[in-house]
Amino acid sequence: MDEHHGEDGLELPAADPQGRPYVGTARVTETTRQRLVSRTCGWCGETVPYTGKGRPPKYCSKAHRNRAWEVRSAAARLEADREAGAAAADGEPVREVIRETVTRTATRSARVEVPRPYPVERPARPGKAREVEEYLDQVAAAVRRGDIGHYDHRRLLRSVRAVLAAIDATYPGGLERLRG
Ligand SMILES: [Zn+2]
Repeated sequence: MDEHHGEDGLELPAADPQGRPYVGTARVTETTRQRLVSRTCGWCGETVPYTGKGRPPKYCSKAHRNRAWEVRSAAARLEADREAGAAAADGEPVREVIRETVTRTATRSARVEVPRPYPVERPARPGKAREVEEYLDQVAAAVRRGDIGHYDHRRLLRSVRAVLAAIDATYPGGLERLRG
């Protein structure tokens, strides 16, 4: 059986089933029928197969349908707020206010003169009469100034009496002779 190839590549028989040869060029009619097989989820993009019955699903799951709805309704509220002036316009930059607090701490030192109870450069040596004399004079001055409180007078008196007793015991003729 003769066959000739049509323009679209279809293999066509040269004669009809009764053996009569075809004349002229074949008229090819093509009908295309499309059927939805699957679509992607409007939320996650996963492929959702379509059985061909009912409305094709827009989402893979109820959860993704709800999420998409939440976003759409939020977008609608945002748009409404923008129109009412209650929301910033799209593309408007977020402004930040930064408050800077600088704390300066100044530390200063002051020299404070602390009065010494006795202006003595070095302790008087007991064996040096001049030093002891000077020291005792300073003690007297300190008592007069009140540097040595009255509650300490008794112990001071005991020391002075001990000195007087020592002199009385050692000076020829005792204290009476010394005073006279
Ligand atoms: Zn999904």
